Amino acid sequence: MKFYFPDSQDLVSPTYDFLQDEYLPTRVRQRDDVYAHEVVTPLPYDGILVSKAIVDPSAARGAGKYAAPQRARLYRLGVRRFFRLPESMVSLGDCGAFNYIDEEYPPYSIDEVLNFYDGCRFDAGVSIDHVIFGYRPGVPDDFIDEAWRKRRTISLDLAEKFIAAVAERDTGLEPVGAAQGWSPESYADSVAQLAEMGYRRVALGGMVPLKTDEIVACLVEITERLGENRPHLHLLGINRLDSMSTFADYGVTSFDSTSVFRQAFMDDRNNYHTDESTFTAIRVPQVDGNPALKRRVLAGKVSQSAAIHAERECLALLRAYDQGGVDVEEVLAALTVYERLVLGDDTKKKSYIASYRRTLEEKPWQDCPCGLCRAHGIEIVVFRGTERNKRRGFHNLSVLEAKMRRLQFPGDRGDDAAEARSTRG
Ligand SMILES: [Zn+2]
Repeated sequence: MKFYFPDSQDLVSPTYDFLQDEYLPTRVRQRDDVYAHEVVTPLPYDGILVSKAIVDPSAARGAGKYAAPQRARLYRLGVRRFFRLPESMVSLGDCGAFNYIDEEYPPYSIDEVLNFYDGCRFDAGVSIDHVIFGYRPGVPDDFIDEAWRKRRTISLDLAEKFIAAVAERDTGLEPVGAAQGWSPESYADSVAQLAEMGYRRVALGGMVPLKTDEIVACLVEITERLGENRPHLHLLGINRLDSMSTFADYGVTSFDSTSVFRQAFMDDRNNYHTDESTFTAIRVPQVDGNPALKRRVLAGKVSQSAAIHAERECLALLRAYDQGGVDVEEVLAALTVYERLVLGDDTKKKSYIASYRRTLEEKPWQDCPCGLCRAHGIEIVVFRGTERNKRRGFHNLSVLEAKMRRLQFPGDRGDDAAEARSTRG
């Protein structure tokens, strides 16, 4: 089972100064900053997924994470050198279909997409698809929204042209067919058609909103319909660890997801993961970096100097607590004072203090073997600024990786990555 981490240009600066909260003046982002696979050991994922919508400015709205010089470097160096991928790691390109979900037709031509895959020298690339955002099992086709049926036809039509174009170019790219559907039957039919076209590997799209048993129902149907001829299956955007073994039983050999990474700073409570549990990160926002607090200062409701004092007090006490210098009540008292300044009237409703107590008392970061927790101690559970928050996300990836490694999957072998890796790069 391979885990691909979707690229969104998430890097951290290894020389960031946590005490002063500042970067080295000599830091050059694209030269000095590092990806998760460069700071976390063992490697926190098996490969990266890069979407065209994120790299190339285009009809796809609101994506574009790459500045022009960065994009030029990616094309010039190729994905392996650009991301400084270790030997064992694989790369997968896709179109980022969610970015054009509102368009009537995908905004890319086959040639544009292949120019992206070949230009960046990906190991594998997903055919152009159009997401169907809905699930209606057991409904006769005639009663299915015409737009949905059209999207499945578009996806299959583009997949057929895509695999023909890949064969014609003969650059060594592994073609991955994208399957869309709205029910077990329609997904199974898409996969059957893709297998017929010659695809040995198929990515199942549009399943993010599906419940786990609905995903399983689709996988069962695919298996029943295709039997021995079932291609390797990839789940796009799905990470349900509890069900991974079941997914594997039905032919899933890879998936991609950002969820554990993003929970580090997007989830309201489950920010820091461990083997057994999740913990709430301790919010100590920067006074001038927190819009709500800034507004309250400007409105005269909070004194700026009091806020700065409370912020510093929290950080100092948290660090002292990690060293065993103060007790938990003292830290919580300081956090309570600062939380009141930040949340104002919402304090009663939104307070995190009870969750902080659990985080502080259990000190999960002290037991984590990952290099980030070892290096940064309590800073990793402090919710504050991109350098801490992304490191916590990287830590979560390493926890997921360790859990995955403990699961036994059919077909997992030590030489898997080497085998799948193409000779390009
Ligand atoms: Zn850790």
